[in-house]
Amino acid sequence: MDLGLAERVVVVTGGAKGIGAAIVRALAAERAVPVIVDRDAAHGAPIATDVGGMFIEAELTTAGACRAAVDEVSRVHGRIDALVNNAGVNDSVGLERGDPERYRESLRKNLHHYYDMAHYALPQLKAARGAIVNIASKTAVTGQGNTSGYASAKGAILGLTREWAAELLPHGIRVNAILPAEVMTPLYEQWLATLPDPKAKLADIIAHIPLEHRMTRAEEIASAACWLLSSQAGHITGQHWYIDGGYVHLDRALT
Ligand code: NAP
Repeated sequence: MDLGLAERVVVVTGGAKGIGAAIVRALAAERAVPVIVDRDAAHGAPIATDVGGMFIEAELTTAGACRAAVDEVSRVHGRIDALVNNAGVNDSVGLERGDPERYRESLRKNLHHYYDMAHYALPQLKAARGAIVNIASKTAVTGQGNTSGYASAKGAILGLTREWAAELLPHGIRVNAILPAEVMTPLYEQWLATLPDPKAKLADIIAHIPLEHRMTRAEEIASAACWLLSSQAGHITGQHWYIDGGYVHLDRALT
C-alpha cells in the first residue's frame, strides 16, 4: 500500500528516542522527510543523519522555542506537511505528592507545546492541507495514580484533538490522537525505576495485557501514526486510537 508520504516534510517532537524515534524511522521508510525536534541532540542528530532527515535541538517548554523550531523547518524546507506532537514525560506530580507549581510545570512539559507547535505550524499545514497526530496516553482515560499533571495534560490533548479536527475542517487538515498504553522506551524504563520493585511490577503489567501478554512495540505505534498521516486515512479525523493490545477496553476476566 502506498501511503503517499514520499517527500512530505513531517515534524516529530521528541523524535530522538522511544516512540518518536520509531515514528521517524517509519516515516523515512515511506520516503518522507522527518524533522526531529528534541532536546536530546546526542540521540536525535545521528538518527536524523541516518534517515536523511533534519534535527532541531529545542527544549519545547517555551512558546518561543516552538516558534523558532517551526521557523527553522520553514526556512530550510519551505513547507510542513504534517506534525506529530509526541514529546512528553510521565513526571509523577500527584495530588498529594505534588504542589501547584509542579503541577503547572507538568502541564508546560506535557501540554502547552502541543498547542504551540500546532499554532505556529498552522500556516504551513493549511498550505499543504496537512495532518496532525497527537500522541496521548491511556492515563487520560484510566488514570494511573500520582500523576495529576501528566494525566490531565493527556486528557486535554484528547480534547484538543477533537477541537482542532473541528476548527480545521475548512482547511482539510485531519487531526487524530493515538493512545499508547505500555511501550518499552527510555521514558517507560525511567518510570519503572521509580517503583519499589520494578521487575515484579513489569511482570504484573505484562500479564494483564490481553493480546499476547506483551508490551506494544514502538514500531506498532509508528505504523498507526504513519497511516493516520497518510492519504489512505483521508476521511478519518477527530479520532482517538487505542494501540494497546486491548489493554484499556477488553474484559479484565480475559487476563
Ligand atoms: P521517551 O523515551 O522519553 O522519548 C521522548 C523524547 O522526547 C526524549 O528524547 C525526550 O528527551 C524528548 N522530550 C521530552 N520532553 C521534551 C521537551 N519538553 N522538549 C524537548 N524534548 C523533549 O518517551 P516515549 O516513551 O517514547 O514517549 C513518547 C510519547 O508517548 C509521550 O508523549 C508519552 O507520554 C507517550 N506515551 C508513552 C507510553 C509508553 O508506554 N512509553 C505510554 C503512553 C503514552 P529526554 O530524554 O531528555 O526527556
